Amino acid sequence: MTPSAPTDSHDQATTHSYLSALRATLGEAAVLTGSDISETYTRDWTRDRHGQCLAVVKPATSAEVSQVCALSHATGIGIIPQGGHTGLVGGAQRNRGDCILISTQRMTAIEEIDADGMTCTVQAGAVLETVQTTLGEQGFQFGVAIGSQGSAQIGGLISTNAGGVNVLRHGMMGAQVLGLEMVLPQGQILSSITGLHKDNRGPDPLRLAIGAEGVFGVVTRACLRILPRQTHSATAYAGCTSMQGALDLLRHIRSNGHEVLSAFEVMSQSCMPLAQSVDPSMILPVDAPVHVLIAFSSAMDLPLQDHLEALLASAFEQGVVQDAVIAQSQSQAARFWSIREGLVEGQIKRGYHVRSDVSVRLGHVPQAAVALETMLAEEFPGWIPQTYGHLGDGNLHFNALPPESKSEEEARAVGKTIEARIFDIVTELGGSFSAEHGIGRTKAGWFRKTLPARHDLLAQLKFTLDPKGIMNPGCLLAENPTHPPDREDPKTTGTGSPAAK
Ligand SMILES: Cc1cc2nc3c(=O)[nH]c(=O)nc-3n(C[C@H](O)[C@H](O)[C@H](O)COP(=O)(O)OP(=O)(O)OC[C@H]3O[C@@H](n4cnc5c(N)ncnc54)[C@H](O)[C@@H]3O)c2cc1C
Repeated sequence: MTPSAPTDSHDQATTHSYLSALRATLGEAAVLTGSDISETYTRDWTRDRHGQCLAVVKPATSAEVSQVCALSHATGIGIIPQGGHTGLVGGAQRNRGDCILISTQRMTAIEEIDADGMTCTVQAGAVLETVQTTLGEQGFQFGVAIGSQGSAQIGGLISTNAGGVNVLRHGMMGAQVLGLEMVLPQGQILSSITGLHKDNRGPDPLRLAIGAEGVFGVVTRACLRILPRQTHSATAYAGCTSMQGALDLLRHIRSNGHEVLSAFEVMSQSCMPLAQSVDPSMILPVDAPVHVLIAFSSAMDLPLQDHLEALLASAFEQGVVQDAVIAQSQSQAARFWSIREGLVEGQIKRGYHVRSDVSVRLGHVPQAAVALETMLAEEFPGWIPQTYGHLGDGNLHFNALPPESKSEEEARAVGKTIEARIFDIVTELGGSFSAEHGIGRTKAGWFRKTLPARHDLLAQLKFTLDPKGIMNPGCLLAENPTHPPDREDPKTTGTGSPAAK
């Protein structure tokens, strides 16, 4: 990490008195500067991006967050909110050392589990896995599950509107939020937390925080929907001849299993060497062009395994599936999932590669996968396609590994063009270049270029709430939201390193 120095935008005296005021307000230990700032705060999970900051500030309460915001507004010094720092689009870090990082890592309280209302109220820094474990002990469960849940925090999940493997059943993070509390850039604390399931006293303006990546304020607390614990489950690993075959299998499974289907993940065969690079002892359950992971779950004691087996048997008879294995134990199911989870780790191990996080209408997924793989083969020979994702939501991570012979510098230069071609193909199919990871800093150029009206309306709203533009400058929106610069072509200016998992 590069310890930051006050930049030209704030003179040393202002910065010094600002940091002194932060220390006086929060206590010495809650304000880190210089070499006390570890890489955890400044280097992203993929180790691809490095940021800088003036200080890392760690408030423990909403009132303290409010004081930090008020002080920042008074001086005009920017704030980057940071949760678990697992985001994949550079939203929680900045490459200029002119802002503070406000970390919610001390705001971890699980304040209330309302068993009747089926809600859970938590502070923003609560880690998803901890929330899941605590709920599980009380017979409940949370609807969002993602690979980074050991670090990702509720505030970060809300701010990115995270997806994950259970979206087809429970929806994205925003669907779990009943109410939230946010500290606005000038320090005002607003809350829509009531625990009510029905409350139509006008629209809740705080829902603007969902997917806003910290540009409107700092999310400090949230009231979330919870579910009865899904104590019964069945998991299968199947092989299909193509992505179209996988889509046919999804249709078949849904025809008689929709209510209990909780995950339907796909991985192309070309991804498998990466999964095996993480665990060389891994034995692949099937040998097929497209691998499919299917999970059923329920809080009721249903014969899920028999049901899944019967559905797969009829799919086999109809030629929809080539091969399938049903997990006979929890540990076998976990081994199936480790193949899927190993892909992300394997890619990071491999080094620089192009990553994407796109979505198209479900029926267009096979066409999108073929178009993307054909583009890569024809236009970028030697690059290896990695197609996997949450097929049940039409969300693909189409990634590309550079030929081993290419230097990282060469690969990065070509990678930008590949990323642009991926976005072009997905846009032509009416899809989205960001399905679940958000815009952050890496895709801000694309956002402004492809959705100018949406960008500019959000910029106007931001100006109303944050006239000095102190909240997460350069993330999601143009740096100066009141005067968006001329729209440059992201293909030539670049969108930073390609980002997604
Ligand atoms: C291995 C791995 C697997 C992943 N799998 C998935 C997946 O399946 N689906 C998916 O959607 N994502 C996935 N991600 C991406 C990431 O985990 C999510 O985006 C997650 O929601 C980020 O949470 P976080 O607490 O780490 O947020 P951070 O990375 O700290 O921040 C993300 C953004 O939110 C803002 N922010 C954070 N906290 C607050 C707050 N309290 N108030 C206001 N703004 C805030 C930040 O400024 C930043 O813009 C994965 C990441 C990894 C590393």
